[in-house]
Amino acid sequence: MESFVYNANPGRVIFGHGAVAKLEEEAERLSAERVLVLSTPEQADQAEIIARHLGARLAGIYPKATMHTPTEVTVEALQIVERLRADAVVSIGGGSTTGLGKAIAFRTDLPQIVVPTTYAGSEATPILGETENGRKVTKSDPRILPEVIIYDVDLTMTLPVSLSVTSGINAIAHAVEALYSRDANPIISLVAEEGITSLARALTLIRDDAQNKNARAAALYGAWLCGVCLGSVGMALHHKLCHTLGGMFNLPHAPMHTALLPHAVAYNRDAAPEAMKRISRALGSDDAAVGLYDLASGLGASMSLQSLGMPEVGVGAAIEQAMANPYWNPRPLEKDALTGLLARAYRGERPASA
Ligand code: NAD
Repeated sequence: MESFVYNANPGRVIFGHGAVAKLEEEAERLSAERVLVLSTPEQADQAEIIARHLGARLAGIYPKATMHTPTEVTVEALQIVERLRADAVVSIGGGSTTGLGKAIAFRTDLPQIVVPTTYAGSEATPILGETENGRKVTKSDPRILPEVIIYDVDLTMTLPVSLSVTSGINAIAHAVEALYSRDANPIISLVAEEGITSLARALTLIRDDAQNKNARAAALYGAWLCGVCLGSVGMALHHKLCHTLGGMFNLPHAPMHTALLPHAVAYNRDAAPEAMKRISRALGSDDAAVGLYDLASGLGASMSLQSLGMPEVGVGAAIEQAMANPYWNPRPLEKDALTGLLARAYRGERPASA
């Protein structure tokens, strides 16, 4: 066995149907008496209902979390934190709401409880991406890692199938890149393979019946495992390209991950054979890249970046930008091959098998 380094992130996870009823108990464990609840405007009603579980510990609700965590929203939320003398935040929603909770915690060191309702996985990471003057900047800090995650399967039942699919494949992308990460280690590889297996099976069942509670539980469990991967080891080509494309063309986060992932995996195929074996096994496919493409397209996802709003001239510009900021990847970054990769993702082609 090769030598490795494994860093475990601290954290407490409560998982189950109806688990959000433990909210007050968890706030009490953190000695939090004045809790500020966060949500997006779309989930304000849901947040209000869930917030009742905090009882007298509820200080207020701020329902203005926004995609990509713009700092002007954080500044306003911090004023509410101060006015209410909040001593903890509870983020109810997807990665956008979790992002606001993290941005507050980074600046105040307040404890966070996250109640995830998508499969994004942000709740399990010490990473925050926030946008200032149109630029998304990513930082990592122990203060950003949430203290408690409450996974309540029942709260994911309303996630529409199309969002479940792209959010789930976004999570799978974390596990895929963890398997060929520079920091890959045996523990995280176990977690990654189990995460992909659980999510891939569950998403197919959810496509057929969005109200399948066992499938919803398996998807949320898989999403947690994939989030742990993202929070534990460095990512590579796929995440860096998504960061570039998201910033340049403001493409929707999870659908963009879904369309690009099979092509990034095909690019790395020969450089990471062990990772490919595990991904293929998790998908029950002969080839990792083709298996990911067939899974996502079979679930009804849009497989072309063109359909998500990327301009064709963007292919060359994005590769220029990606090459300008070199980063580690199992296969070196080669301009012509990368241009081919992105052109195929732009058109939504099925990758050629090995
Ligand atoms: P999102 O949080 O933007 O949610 C998408 C929409 O779905 C929102 O309107 C939300 O209110 C709604 N929604 C959420 N759960 C729902 C439910 N159960 N039923 C009905 N509607 C629901 O989307 P996302 O994909 O979860 O998060 C994307 C953001 O998270 C991006 O900004 C991305 O950069 C960030 N992210 C960060 C990390 C990290 O570790 N820092 C990891 C993954 C994603």
